[in-house]
Amino acid sequence: MKLILMALICFNTYANIHLSPPNFDSYVFVDIKKITSDIQVDFQNKEVIATTTIEFENFQSGKPIFDLVPDAIQTEINGITVDLPEISSPDGETKFRAVDKSLPAGNHRLMIKNKITENLNFTWWTGHLNMAFWMTDLNDRGYLENYIPTNLEFDQFELELNVELGSEKVNEHELFTNGELRTTPTGFHVKYPDYFTSSSLYFHLAKKDKFEKKNLSFTSMNGKVIPITIYSSNNSNVRSAETETLAVLSELEGIFGAWSHPSLVVYVAGSGGMEYAGATRTSLSALGHELIHSYFARGVMPVRGNSGWIDEAIASWRDKGYQYNPSTGFYTTSMAAHSVYRRNTDYRAYNEGAKFMAYLNYQLSDQGGLKTFLKDVYSNYKHTSITTSDFKKFLENFSGLDFTTDFARYILGQRKGHAKHEHVEENPYHPRLSKQDYLDLL
Ligand SMILES: [Zn+2]
Repeated sequence: MKLILMALICFNTYANIHLSPPNFDSYVFVDIKKITSDIQVDFQNKEVIATTTIEFENFQSGKPIFDLVPDAIQTEINGITVDLPEISSPDGETKFRAVDKSLPAGNHRLMIKNKITENLNFTWWTGHLNMAFWMTDLNDRGYLENYIPTNLEFDQFELELNVELGSEKVNEHELFTNGELRTTPTGFHVKYPDYFTSSSLYFHLAKKDKFEKKNLSFTSMNGKVIPITIYSSNNSNVRSAETETLAVLSELEGIFGAWSHPSLVVYVAGSGGMEYAGATRTSLSALGHELIHSYFARGVMPVRGNSGWIDEAIASWRDKGYQYNPSTGFYTTSMAAHSVYRRNTDYRAYNEGAKFMAYLNYQLSDQGGLKTFLKDVYSNYKHTSITTSDFKKFLENFSGLDFTTDFARYILGQRKGHAKHEHVEENPYHPRLSKQDYLDLL
C-alpha cells in the first residue's frame, strides 16, 4: 500500500511522456516540469532577449529534444555550455532542437538565451513596444517555439514569464494574457495554469490604451465568476463581441458543461481567428468557432498533428448547425494518418471532419447524439491531451458500438484507392495569414 501511494505521489499529474513521438537515434523526448522565462526588453537597442530556464526529466539516457525556432545565443545544460543544433525527425516531417550532449536519465536544468524577433515592433516615435506570441495550428512549428524554448504539443508544464520593461516603461504598456497577471515595479509577471501546453498561451503586449477595452464577467453554471476582457481597435467591435461572447458561452455551457479556464480574453481583429486556452484573436464572424475551441482544442487538447482534426471537426460541425446525417457524403480521407511527428492539423478536418461528426451524431442517436457524447468527453478529459485512438475508444465505450471500420475508412485512409493528398482548401475561420497580417495585428 505504502509503495503504491509513493508511486502515485511521485507520478506528476501531467507527466505526458507516454504521449511523445518515438525516440530516435541518440535523441530522447523529455517531460518538462517547469519553464521560467525572463524577457528583457531593451528599448535603447530595440531588442528583446529571453533567458529561459527549463526543468525537465528524461526517462532514458540520450540527447534531449526541445524546440526553439530562432537560434539560441547561449545554451547551458546543468551549468555547462553546450550547442543546441536543429535536427530533423527521422522521416523529415519536422525539425526540433536537441541538446548536443547525452544525459543520463533523471532531472536536469537547461538554460537557453535567445532573441525574440517575430511579431514585435518598437515604435521609435513614442518609445513603445507592441509584441505578441501569435500561433497557428496550420503550419509546422506554429506554437510557442517561435518565441521561447518549449516542448512539443504533447507535454503540459508550469510556465512563468517575467517581462522586464523598466520602471519608466511599465506604466505605459498593458499585457493581455490568459495567465495570472501581476504588475511589478519594472514589468509584468505571469503564471500560467499547469495544464497548459505549447499551444495554450496567449500573450499580447501593447502600448497602454492603444485598444478600446471592456472588462466584464460571466457567472458560469458552476457558480464561478469568469473575468472577461474584450478588446479591439474599434469600439463597435467590442460591443458586438460582448453580446456574441455571452450568447455563445451560454450555448456552450448548456451543451458541453461549465467553462473550464480561469478567464477569457477576446481580441477582435483580423480575418478568421486563432484559439488559445481561454483566449482568442478573432474576427466577429469566427468568434463562436474560436470559443468552442476553448472546450475542444484548448480544453480537451490534441497530442499532435494527427489528433488536430478532432477539434476542427467538432468546431466546424457546430458552425454548420450541429448537423445529423446517416452518411458522411465522402469516400475516404487519411486526415489522422500522417507521420507521428507531424505537428499541424490536416485541412480536411473542416469539411470532411465536420461531415464525419454529423455522421457520428446519427450513429449515436440512441445515446443522445454527439452533443451528449462530447459533454461526457469534456467532463472526463478536459485539461488532458488525447489522440485519435483515444477518441475512438471513448466513442466505443460510450456507445457500445464498434467504430473500427468507420475510422479506418473516413479518418485513417485504410481503404483501397483513397485520395492520399490533402487538398489545401482555405477555411474562412482559419485562413492562412501572411507575415504582414500578423504584424498588423500588433
Ligand atoms: Zn478552428
